[in-house]
Amino acid sequence: MTDCIFCRIVAGDIPCAKVYEDEKVLAFLDINPLMPGHTLLIPKKHAETLFDMSPEEAAACGAALQKVAAAVFKGLDAEGLNVLQNNYEISGQEIFHVHFHLMPRKTGDGFKVPWPAKKYGPGEMESVLQKILKAF
Ligand code: 5GP
Ligand code: ZN
Repeated sequence: MTDCIFCRIVAGDIPCAKVYEDEKVLAFLDINPLMPGHTLLIPKKHAETLFDMSPEEAAACGAALQKVAAAVFKGLDAEGLNVLQNNYEISGQEIFHVHFHLMPRKTGDGFKVPWPAKKYGPGEMESVLQKILKAF
């Protein structure tokens, strides 16, 4: 996909600060980080969202995710680490090549994930559960 910025990074047409690479996966520093060390991990093969990846690519990303997260966490003396992955525009996805954000956390970094937790109404949890189970 020549019009995809992350495919162009994979191809080496656009430079990146490479953190990790294997046969199927590339990780590099985000160009506009929320904090120093904010890293993006992507499958080398183009897929728009998590749902468009093959199980093999998803598994490769999962394995690399743990490895890269551990290095980012340890290397930057982080106290915590968020993993975030956006699918489709409504979730905040801006680059339509699947990517995982790895965000090392430190006290006072000023980053807060909005988490407006809600309560289920009567019977709602069971009906939601059934909808998900039917979709496998
Ligand atoms: P999204 O909002 O799609 O989940 O995140 C896209 C991320 O890609 C953003 O955090 C943005 O800063 C990053 N990004 C966009 N273009 C480039 C680029 O050319 N190089 C790098 N390293 N990061 C990029
Ligand atoms: Zn792409």
